[in-house]
Amino acid sequence: MCGIAGAFGVQNAERLVAEILFATQHRGQESCGIASRNPRGNVTAYKAMGLVKNVLTEEVLDRHAGDVSIGHVRYPTAGSSDLANAQPFAIDLAEGPHMAICANGDIINYGELRSFLEREAGFTFISDNDGELMGRLIAYYHVVRDIPIEEAIAKTMAEVKGAFATMLILRDKLFAFRDPHGIRPMVMGHLECEGTGDLPSEGTVFASEGCGFGIIGARAVREVAPGEILCLERGQPVRTVASYPEAPRHCVFELIYFSRPDSDTFGERVWEVRRRIGACLAAKDADMPIGDDLVVIPVPDSSNFVAQGYAEARGIPFGMGLLRNHYVGRTFIRPNQKSRDEGVKQKFNPLPGFFPGKRVVLVDDSIVRGTSVRKLVRMIKAAGAREVHVRVGSPPVIGSCYYGIDTPTRDELIANRLSVAGIAEYMNADSLKYMDVADFDRVLPAPGDYCFACFNLDYIYPPEQFGHKVNVPQHRD
Ligand code: SF4
Repeated sequence: MCGIAGAFGVQNAERLVAEILFATQHRGQESCGIASRNPRGNVTAYKAMGLVKNVLTEEVLDRHAGDVSIGHVRYPTAGSSDLANAQPFAIDLAEGPHMAICANGDIINYGELRSFLEREAGFTFISDNDGELMGRLIAYYHVVRDIPIEEAIAKTMAEVKGAFATMLILRDKLFAFRDPHGIRPMVMGHLECEGTGDLPSEGTVFASEGCGFGIIGARAVREVAPGEILCLERGQPVRTVASYPEAPRHCVFELIYFSRPDSDTFGERVWEVRRRIGACLAAKDADMPIGDDLVVIPVPDSSNFVAQGYAEARGIPFGMGLLRNHYVGRTFIRPNQKSRDEGVKQKFNPLPGFFPGKRVVLVDDSIVRGTSVRKLVRMIKAAGAREVHVRVGSPPVIGSCYYGIDTPTRDELIANRLSVAGIAEYMNADSLKYMDVADFDRVLPAPGDYCFACFNLDYIYPPEQFGHKVNVPQHRD
């Protein structure tokens, strides 16, 4: 998972992009970057390891000021965790530095396309990153094969299999396009601003999520549709160049975990979806006795609204029994187990005096490896809780994601090794219940429009066709 941002047709577009990236920092904390078209018509890019507030300083933004800008926050999925894989990528065309690209997603046929470009066009890659691959494929069609840019993008979209929400600066144009299934989110916003010089008094912004729009005074207009290619050019209204939609398969994990609750993602209000998930979990617990000793707590922050929905549905108290240190970051998106283990300990602390004698319903959004929630159960019991009942806002994760989320290999997925009872025992929970895929019929208006592959192995693109070994569950209830 990563976050992208873009701004077009406004003075200091780079500032707007930096603000949006700051608001979407939760989508990637490893590296970030920005690319802008400067007044001389050149596209310049800057990226570095670290957080937006540390990387995109005033001095950096001054050097990359322009009226067209794109940006990216990264957490690694495919490709190693280093600066070479940070985005955006600036790609020189024959006439000069006029192109930059950034993408959120994962290209499942990356190896095949890269070999083709190295062999066919003699391209040298500087990273293992999907964004660079898409940029070079577009450059191949547009420059080497001399195809108009709109067609070059369309051909690239037809070749590339996987998830991509992409922003491309080419000369004075900005393109925004999204994979035909709309796996990763991408929203467009409208900005009223002060017109200066030849710049108009309104601009267009883009983001993976709309939670940053309010800060810059923009309002969300609509999503970039699955398979849609949008073109923005000076003095022209936003134009749909082409559209190649297929059956929508939005990533349901965006609603469960990744998106900020103040975003509307895939047309859904994220916080409301999470409350409905909580109510669904509550309906499974009708036989659990209610009493003064029963309390519901979330694993903050992504489970807050699920726990709230659960508490409201059962009419029992909701409490913030675990305090989260917000300076640690998301443990799930840390690149290795050692740093994730350290992160859990640093991240959560039980509220003093909250737990003694309590029966606790601990609500988590998902269980991937099981290590984090195991530590939390131990922590809550050590703080005096009599019982801990774990409720999970998603089904058991049994498959890897090939579309931009770092769900790990078979051996690391606890639901692939243990039954639900076995997981409860492993984490010393008094009971454990999950959502079922079928439960989402009561949570989402169109559940068939979503990808659930990491829960049911129903992949959009059969991964074994692309040389990926599919996780076959070792144990299912
Ligand atoms: S496999 Fe899971 S994480 Fe990946 S896109 Fe599908 S639902 Fe989302």
